[in-house]
Amino acid sequence: MRRKLAAGNWKMNGLSASLSELEAMGKAAGGASDVLICPPATLVAPAAAAAKDTGVSIGGQDCHAAASGAHTGDISAPMLKDAGASHVILGHSERRTDHGERNEDVRLKAKAAWEADMVAVICVGESLTERDAHNTLDIIGGQLAGSIPDGATGHNLVVAYEPIWAIGTGKVPTTDQIGEVHDFIRARLERRFGSGVGRSVRLLYGGSVKASNAEEIFAVSNVDGALVGGASLKASDFVPIIEALNAAG
Ligand code: PEP
Repeated sequence: MRRKLAAGNWKMNGLSASLSELEAMGKAAGGASDVLICPPATLVAPAAAAAKDTGVSIGGQDCHAAASGAHTGDISAPMLKDAGASHVILGHSERRTDHGERNEDVRLKAKAAWEADMVAVICVGESLTERDAHNTLDIIGGQLAGSIPDGATGHNLVVAYEPIWAIGTGKVPTTDQIGEVHDFIRARLERRFGSGVGRSVRLLYGGSVKASNAEEIFAVSNVDGALVGGASLKASDFVPIIEALNAAG
């Protein structure tokens, strides 16, 4: 049985005052779903302190592949762990686009996360051009093969399918399109890691999830939750999504 996961990616948003949102999110946590918030790095430690005993886990949004060293401005997985993070988002399309991250970079970062005993939330997703050219599954297959290290388990890996064209745009794929990709990811994980492991990895959908579309997205096969950007910043937007996930069969 895979526990459902509602994950929030605050991106480059949030100041100390935003931590007050965690309390209400925590009240919705503790049901049938796990809740994860990934604030900016400046807030990881205070968020972890604020989320203590609420049932909300805290994650980073990226980490360096090395544990320490001369990498000005970067943050390592052990540093995130030390600050109270249990998860780290890796390979988000904004990192792939803004920072030129390639699959092999993501794979090394995921290894670093595992060495620090953290869960890697690895993002994959196609552009609109790739979808229109009917290349979606090839792209996703390549990202899975290149970004996930050997040694994945249901405890150290979460995969988020995030079509780039759906992120922050209000555009959402049809439930058939989401189901096709999630079934494909599940099959690829089972083929590579064996059916036991492949079936135990949680698969999140991400891209313009909000309270009004959460229920139908969570009804899609192999959707075990969501990675939510904009609608995770405020408890008033995120709690209804957590509740829809708690209610999903
Ligand atoms: C994201 O960036 O991970 C995301 C899904 O953003 P949004 O929910 O705002 O589309």
